[in-house]
Amino acid sequence: MIRVEKLHKTFGTGTRARPVLHDVDLNIAQGTIGAVVGPSGAGKSTLARCVNLLERPTSGRVWVAGTDVTDLPERDLRHARRAIGTVFQSANLLRRRTVAQNVAMPLRHLGVTAREEKRRVAELLERVGLTDRADDYPAQLSGGQRQRVGIARALALRPKVLLSDEATSGLDPAATRSVLALLRELRTDLDLAILLITHEMEVVREVADTAALLREGRVIESGAVHQLVADPHSALGNALLPDRP
Ligand code: ADP
Ligand code: MG
Repeated sequence: MIRVEKLHKTFGTGTRARPVLHDVDLNIAQGTIGAVVGPSGAGKSTLARCVNLLERPTSGRVWVAGTDVTDLPERDLRHARRAIGTVFQSANLLRRRTVAQNVAMPLRHLGVTAREEKRRVAELLERVGLTDRADDYPAQLSGGQRQRVGIARALALRPKVLLSDEATSGLDPAATRSVLALLRELRTDLDLAILLITHEMEVVREVADTAALLREGRVIESGAVHQLVADPHSALGNALLPDRP
């Protein structure tokens, strides 16, 4: 569903060239959550931006939902981006719009009738458990609730893959758990491939099926989470083991 092959990304040219990703391979199957973990500056967000077509890879290939999106012409990007929902660290909601209006944003300009829009928004809010907050404004919600609105909005165009870039960073443990529980539910119910970017090991342990460790733009280690934790030589596996009492 999400496939990245030999991805390189360099910002700038000549003496200012700044290589950020080197030879990155990544595979996230339908109905699974694949985590990319690594310290700040490792290149995680750049990797996500190469997948959701906000950045062009310098070389290498990217497939989303079976389509090679690497060399799509500019005019096809908008359409291709619809297959990819993205959730960011701050939900980026419009403050002066209600929850329902925020969720409806991606449906605007698509020729969806008002009635259909209303039905879709109701369905999305139900999915994220916020039916009763439809007419509230973002400021009236908790951080976890705002993230769930962001997720509902990301699902509005029925994407096949979901990208979550540090969506739980800055949330308290209870809110983090509620967002992770929702992601797990979406993985199964909607059969989504979810690319989960995080610097928090608890998040990986809690929800990821596979994980890749990114350091200085390279994948140092990757595999199924249950295999990594069973491997005594795996740095990522060891980092994922819960602290012993
Ligand atoms: P992470 O999300 O893991 O913290 P990023 O992908 O945001 O890492 O950044 C990786 C490196 O790429 C950083 O050194 C950052 O400064 C650099 N970088 C990111 N975006 C750009 C850009 N548009 N132009 C130049 N350098 C960038
Ligand atoms: Mg980042």
